[in-house]
Amino acid sequence: MKLQVEALETGYGKAQVLFGVDLEVAEGELVALLGANGAGKTTLLHTLSGLLRPWRGRALWDGQDLSGLSPAQRARLGIGHVPEGRQLFPLMTVEENLRLGAAFLAPGRDGEGFARVYALFPRLAERRRQLAGTLSGGEQQMLAIGRALMGFPKILLVDEPSLGLAPRLAEEVLLALKRVAEEGVGVLLVEQNAALSLEVASRAYVMEHGRLVLQGPAHALLEDPSIREAYLSL
Ligand code: ATP
Repeated sequence: MKLQVEALETGYGKAQVLFGVDLEVAEGELVALLGANGAGKTTLLHTLSGLLRPWRGRALWDGQDLSGLSPAQRARLGIGHVPEGRQLFPLMTVEENLRLGAAFLAPGRDGEGFARVYALFPRLAERRRQLAGTLSGGEQQMLAIGRALMGFPKILLVDEPSLGLAPRLAEEVLLALKRVAEEGVGVLLVEQNAALSLEVASRAYVMEHGRLVLQGPAHALLEDPSIREAYLSL
């Protein structure tokens, strides 16, 4: 199964932000979406999760046109979103935050979800009764990813997970996303940290001013001189 984006265009008010975006993410694939601040990456993720309407073009999941479906309907189809800034509830415990991610599942399925999240992030298991607001930045990011995994997504849209994290924690979080993909979930990873994301991704797209300008296998982009100069400072 895959998420297909076809000729997608959208914006805010009269200002167009995305122009003819075509992109694909299959189950089990980790795909990085790179680009400078303001290129339109968050706007694309919001359009895919149903928070913003496309002006033109469409997104398909497993061949089904997602146009007109609400964020909740998309979540039920298996499209999970880890928003920029994590959006946790700081005065609720780790476990309570996680349970919210399973709110729309059949009762009883959350046990399986907890087991999976705690296996992926043992530190969350140790801190399950701690308030989310008292966690470190890295742990909060793990919790935000864990909460999305509680809904058993088939595709995870992840916005800037390494933002504000020390390099070692950023790496830990991206390696965890790689394991999520290896478990069969498709991951579309928006990241400023191009070097790190190209190390964990299998493919990548580069967005500039709302257009995809480059795409290919991650290892090829890592060696591309224009990418090295623009995004890797090499
Ligand atoms: P960042 O890494 O800063 O999140 P980005 O690539 O995700 O960058 P977007 O956040 O999608 O970029 O922003 C793309 C463009 O849309 C920018 O010019 C931004 O100013 C504009 N924009 C984003 N959100 C809104 C909004 N709610 N209303 C109006 N314009 C917006």
